[in-house]
Amino acid sequence: MLKGKSALVTGSTSGIGLGIAEAIATSGCNVMLNGFGEAAEIEALRANLERKHGVKVRYDGADMTKPATIEAMIGAAAREFGGIDILVNNAGIQHVAPIDEFPPEKWDVIIAINLVACFHTIRHALPGMKKKGWGRVINIASAHALVASPFKSAYVAAKHGVAGLTKTVALEVAQQGITVNAICPGYVRTPLVEKQIPDTAKARGITEAQVVSDVLLAAQPTKQFVTVEQVAGLALYLASDAAASVTGAILSIDGGWTAQ
Ligand code: NAD
Repeated sequence: MLKGKSALVTGSTSGIGLGIAEAIATSGCNVMLNGFGEAAEIEALRANLERKHGVKVRYDGADMTKPATIEAMIGAAAREFGGIDILVNNAGIQHVAPIDEFPPEKWDVIIAINLVACFHTIRHALPGMKKKGWGRVINIASAHALVASPFKSAYVAAKHGVAGLTKTVALEVAQQGITVNAICPGYVRTPLVEKQIPDTAKARGITEAQVVSDVLLAAQPTKQFVTVEQVAGLALYLASDAAASVTGAILSIDGGWTAQ
């Protein structure tokens, strides 16, 4: 479906990003992986994806808090693949604390990775897409781009920002064959969610089991976690030609959370 195309998926050494990278590789598209982790594990992941799907898979460990390394990564992907056709802004982190106890350095790093990095990847990747007259930008936002939860001020602010950025860029490139959309998942049981369970328990004065049943799944009428594969399926659709008229959309995949 995406044969001959190339994608960059930020934060793809784990969780949702890895699932999206795999789905995209399955469809015949070259992939640039990005994210942190143990070098040998990342290399095994890279080699395995390449072997399994017969596409080029490369890795760049650019830190998404650093604009210069982001620019270098986009340049490397463009040289390696002859351009980035599909940009998936997925890297993200979370911190859970009341606003008056929220460490300012955590605020800065969440805004940098979850929002500012998207500005830099988009501004460097768009010129190549414009030249080809085809492109896909897929921003992994969150249900928290649409609604808030207490104790997640930086994350909610960043994700609402991603929704605004998505709509704005979609309008700017609407006549150039480039679509720009945001996917807003509900809770997906990845390391990002696992890590916030103890802090949420502390902030709310409840047990970790209660966090899962009374906070996380309480938000979702289906009472099910969203899966990585379901989010990856939506990303793959947005990357396809069938989705050419879907742009500027803020798409929920949240078990009904934001319908309430
Ligand atoms: P995860 O922790 O499993 O993966 C995050 C990825 O980002 C990892 O590959 C990590 O190495 C990378 N990363 C972190 N800091 C980075 C940095 N400075 N530079 C480069 N890469 C960095 O998390 P996930 O749950 O898969 O989250 C992926 C995205 O999905 C995030 O944007 C998150 O906000 C969003 N999201 C997740 C959920 C959920 O419930 N898990 C729900 C809605 C939205």
